[in-house]
Amino acid sequence: MSNVQVAVVTGSNKGIGLAIVRALCKQFPGDVYLTSRDPGRGQAAVTQLQQEGLRPLFHQLDIDDLQSIRALRDFLKEKYGGLNVLVNNAGIAFKVHDTTPFAVQAEVTLKTNFFATRNVCTELLPLVKPYGRVVNVSSMVSFSALKGCSQELQQKFRSDTITEDELVQLMTKFVEDTKKGVHEKEGWPNTAYGVSKIGVTVLSRIQARLLNEQRRGDHILLNACCPGWVRTDMAGPKATKSPEEGAETPVYLALLPSSADAPHGQFVSDKTVKPW
Ligand code: NAP
Repeated sequence: MSNVQVAVVTGSNKGIGLAIVRALCKQFPGDVYLTSRDPGRGQAAVTQLQQEGLRPLFHQLDIDDLQSIRALRDFLKEKYGGLNVLVNNAGIAFKVHDTTPFAVQAEVTLKTNFFATRNVCTELLPLVKPYGRVVNVSSMVSFSALKGCSQELQQKFRSDTITEDELVQLMTKFVEDTKKGVHEKEGWPNTAYGVSKIGVTVLSRIQARLLNEQRRGDHILLNACCPGWVRTDMAGPKATKSPEEGAETPVYLALLPSSADAPHGQFVSDKTVKPW
């Protein structure tokens, strides 16, 4: 088994994920895994970074596929005995003018952004080694969507005692409410992406709390973040940040020094903790 440190970035064949891998290849003292659901797109991205003189490694990962997550888990366990840095970056968003029915958008968006990200965490968090760093890429949109929720929902999402099961129930209810056409009546905002990212931010707060309760001596730091508005296929060419600029906050959180005991369980934007 290798003693080398290891970092994994989900959805890193393009966009912010690729920029995170590029930065980690330069700054992280260990192996960096570029992952992609499509091996062809993944290998092309690896080749691109190799041409820049960098040495990322590759592993297939489709976060929507539990078998794929478990194959990566088993590989990391066997080769490295765990992992040191996990960046949950993979995500999707329907375009604003997409005419797909809202209920379908809700189901598809929540499936990847919330439920699949949670599955990655369920399988990989137990492998994270002492002083490990976990970064869940959420969005400022989670905050604006939170403000668009009913007072009752806001209170639940801000609660310091909400459990993962309760969060899963709420995310499931959102999808069901969109199918019944009652989501606004039930206090939800009109944004599937926003609700999915509320899920990612709240999940991060819960996971950090569980780490405090169950693995306090391991000094693991876990946070959610917003990369900013970044020029990628998701956000388009008018966005204000380059992918490299978008990678700055996730990389800062991934490389928090071993002497740091904060931030932890926070929502971080522009390397600054924001109120939730
Ligand atoms: P992007 O250019 O569309 O890249 C998304 C990446 O996620 C791609 O590599 C994509 O792979 C991958 N992905 C999607 N579904 C996946 C799955 N099931 N399994 C594995 N990988 C999957 O988007 P981006 O702008 O870089 O976004 C990265 C993250 O930042 C997302 O979580 C997004 O919500 C968040 N974010 C972005 C912005 C922004 O302004 N861009 C702002 C706030 C937050 P394929 O190439 O195979 O599709």
